[in-house]
Parts: sequence; C-alpha cells; structure tokens
Amino acid sequence: MKNTFVVLLSLFATSVFAGECDINLESTESMAFKTKEIVVNKNCAEVTLNFKNNGTLPKAVMGHNAVISKKSDMNAVVNDGIAAGLKNNYVKTGDKRVVVATTVIGGGESTSIKFKPDTIKPNEDYVFFCSFPGHSAVMKGIVKLV
Ligand code: ZN
Repeated sequence: MKNTFVVLLSLFATSVFAGECDINLESTESMAFKTKEIVVNKNCAEVTLNFKNNGTLPKAVMGHNAVISKKSDMNAVVNDGIAAGLKNNYVKTGDKRVVVATTVIGGGESTSIKFKPDTIKPNEDYVFFCSFPGHSAVMKGIVKLV
C-alpha cells in the first residue's frame, strides 16, 4: 500500500495533470468571450479546446467559433474566413496560419477540438478570436504559452 502511494506521487510530480491540458472557453450571451486570456501548457502532448456558446441565437445569425493564430496573421485569417463562408466555419480550408479552429456553433451549443501545443512558437505573439464576420474586433484575446 505504501509503495503504491509513492509511485502515484512520483507520477503526479513528473506528468501534467489532465485538467491543465483542457482549455474551457465560453462566449457570453452577447458578442464576447468570457475571458481575455487563455493558457496553453506546452508540456501537454495534446491540448483540448472546449468551446461553449452561451448565446441564444442560431449560428447563421450570431454564431461563434474559436480560432488560434499568430497575432500578426489574425486579420488575414479573418478576411479569408469571410470569403470561405459559414459552410467552411469562416476559416479558409487548409489555412496553414491557423493553429486550431473550432466549428461555428449557435447559442446553447458546445464543441471541442484537440491540437498539439508545439505548433505554437514560444517567441511569437498568438491570439484567439472568433472569425464570424465582424466579431474579431471585440471577440479576441491573448494566448499565453506556459
Ligand atoms: Zn463570434
């Protein structure tokens, strides 16, 4: 029994808690994210981005997604996303500038997607945003790599 306890302790000391590899992002009831900063733990093999839209309107009217890219790429990603349209979740197909992007979801819906944190370079500024047309001006925040 004592040995089992020691093994468990050392496991906890050397590995990352599963919870630290989950990002729980939510929109408010209006056109905003609940947080201005998300934290990505670079020690995670995979990070799960969970996103919930707390609004009430359908996705064609007030849909939201969560996209991560370099800060310097955000405007171009958004503009190409508008051209791609809702059927492509407002993200250009195969856009290499996008680290990860959830689907566009309507009010009351949730989605999640996994990505590898090593696609985020430590010496660059990254942001998360909603690429629904007109939203990224206010629906955005900072991605912090720890
Ligand atoms: Zn939005």
